[in-house]
Amino acid sequence: MDVSPEGIRKVVAARSHLAPEDVTEVRWASDFRPRAALADRFRDRRVFLAGDAAHVHSPAGGQGLNTSVQDAYNLGWKLGAVLRDGAGEALLDTYEEERRAVAVDMLGLSTSVHRGEVRRGEATRQLGLGYRGSTLTRETRDAPGPVRAGDRAPDGTLDGVRLFDAFRGPHWTLVAIGTRLPRVPESVRVVGGAGLGTYGSGLFLVRPDSYVGWAGDQAAGVMGYLGRFGLR
Ligand SMILES: Cc1cc2nc3c(=O)[nH]c(=O)nc-3n(C[C@H](O)[C@H](O)[C@H](O)COP(=O)(O)OP(=O)(O)OC[C@H]3O[C@@H](n4cnc5c(N)ncnc54)[C@H](O)[C@@H]3O)c2cc1C
Repeated sequence: MDVSPEGIRKVVAARSHLAPEDVTEVRWASDFRPRAALADRFRDRRVFLAGDAAHVHSPAGGQGLNTSVQDAYNLGWKLGAVLRDGAGEALLDTYEEERRAVAVDMLGLSTSVHRGEVRRGEATRQLGLGYRGSTLTRETRDAPGPVRAGDRAPDGTLDGVRLFDAFRGPHWTLVAIGTRLPRVPESVRVVGGAGLGTYGSGLFLVRPDSYVGWAGDQAAGVMGYLGRFGLR
């Protein structure tokens, strides 16, 4: 592309209602070409790739920062569990397992938006993402309600507590709806109440990155599941 002031004037005139002479000064111009690329691996022993280092793509759709921050949060709480709480080191492999799959989909999406094949909408908001198929996810109910293990935990108010406020921070949260509260480690925040339609009833262990890790009807299983993350 011709990025000289004359070249810019021609493009502006061709693509907008402005005349070439309306562009009186060009202070900065560069030739931008989108590139789509994905790292084969997000982890190699002690090295982790997150954000644009792991995936680059067209800015169309505004996916980069959104995806990058979620990469960092996903990796961050797992590093904390291993380094601070003594969780097994294999937990760190689930970072690539969970986030590379998201990046693959996002690259396809941003490329389609860039080409004008898809418009921004539900998918570009990334609020429907989840990890139902992750090896970390445990759905223990035969007949799950509207929120299942692996889903992003939705907001709501339970016993006067707003759930998004309760989730905020690096801790796990147990959401107990219409059921007895089980014993949990001290660092787990507990929010309980009689009913919340968006969730249905049951116990929901919400990970530090606000996805439901474990869901069930029975308290048995809660401590065993949390033990994997070094929480006792
Ligand atoms: C034109 C454009 C528009 C965009 N619009 C959107 C949007 O609307 N919404 C959205 O979500 N995303 C958007 N993005 C994408 C978003 O900006 C990136 O995805 C995001 O900034 C990636 O964050 P990051 O931390 O991975 O990388 P960066 O933000 O690139 O951070 C990397 C940092 O590392 C530093 N660094 C590099 N090398 C070294 C070194 N050797 N030593 C020390 N430091 C180093 C760099 O200086 C930089 O500060 C857009 C991108 C572009 C280019």
